[in-house]
Formats: sequence, C-alpha cells, structure tokens
Amino acid sequence: MIDQQLKSAIRDVPNFPKPGIIFKDITPILRNPQLCESVVDSLVAQLPVTRIDAVAGIESRGFLFGLMLAQRLGKPFVPVRKQGKLPWRTVSQEYALEYGKAVLEIHEDAFEPGTRVLVHDDLLATGGTVTATSELIRKLGGSVAGYAFIVSLESLGGREQLYAYSKDIFSLISY
Ligand code: AMP
Repeated sequence: MIDQQLKSAIRDVPNFPKPGIIFKDITPILRNPQLCESVVDSLVAQLPVTRIDAVAGIESRGFLFGLMLAQRLGKPFVPVRKQGKLPWRTVSQEYALEYGKAVLEIHEDAFEPGTRVLVHDDLLATGGTVTATSELIRKLGGSVAGYAFIVSLESLGGREQLYAYSKDIFSLISY
C-alpha cells in the first residue's frame, strides 16, 4: 500500500545531476503530510527500535525524515554533513565518488562511545555514502544499529557492502 503510494509520488528525473543518472526525486512526498507520516510509521514498524540509541541523517535529504524518525523514537538526532559545514570540532571520512572523492563529517561530541546509531538517508545506491557514515560512527566508538532508507537501488551492490556493519537494512521501496 505505502509502496504503491511512494512509487507514484517519487518522480524520476532523467539525466540529473548528470547524463545517464535517473534521479529519484522524493520532494513530492513532502507535499503530502499524511504520506510523510506513513513513511515514518512504516519505517518505525520495521526497525529494531529497542536497539536504537540515536539516529544519524546524512546531508541533505537524510535530514528530512531523519529528524522525524528520531523524534518519533524519542532519540537524539545526529547530522552527518559534507566537509566544512559543521561548526564545531569534527571527525572526517573520505570516500570515493564515481569521479573523484568526497568527505563527510560528524561532530566529535555527537554521541557517547557505545551508542547504537541508526543510519538514515533517502536513498541507497552504491552504498559509498552510508559506508563512510558507518566509519564515522565507528571512529566515535559507536556501532551501527541498522539502516533505514526510503528507496534502495538494488542492482548497485550497496546492500552487500553494509553487511560488515549491520544486517538490519530496511527500505520502503526498491528498484
Ligand atoms: P551512494 O553513496 O552511491 O549510495 O549514493 C547515495 C547518495 O546519493 C544518497 O545521499 C542519495 O540521495 C544520492 N543518490 C544517488 N543516486 C541517486 C539517485 N538515482 N536518485 C536520487 N538520489 C541519489
């Protein structure tokens, strides 16, 4: 039910941000408050909620539902941002892009060692972004409690990469 609603809401934008990519645009979901509520309900229903101490959301679309999930779970929200955006002292992790490299950062006091962190992003593609986020969580002495996505692109091998951190990988729809 929710998967059909999401599939009709999500807009395919061919050749964005570059030729050959079909961009899955989740912004139409945001126009529908009831659908947003259902996204949070459906993710929370699948998650190992008793094993989650905090929720990390990845800039920028991971902030949208990441904070909503954290609020619903009554847990802290941790922003993971691109290099140079966080104002306090940070820990960094470089990762490979299709062409070149990027760096993600987290505040060094984002959570206490031993914290079990759920990682959220809007979409799982190759898994590079969430793998770098998982490394940041490890660097701060935390562990990955699981992954929650709205969309996963299953042909790109991202899911298998994440097994090294957690096998609890949830997505509402897959292509
Ligand atoms: P990856 O690191 O390859 O798993 O890419 C995931 C990140 O890139 C997420 O933050 C997504 O928002 C974004 N992304 C990658 N591919 C797409 C796509 N086809 N449509 C929308 N967002 C994408």
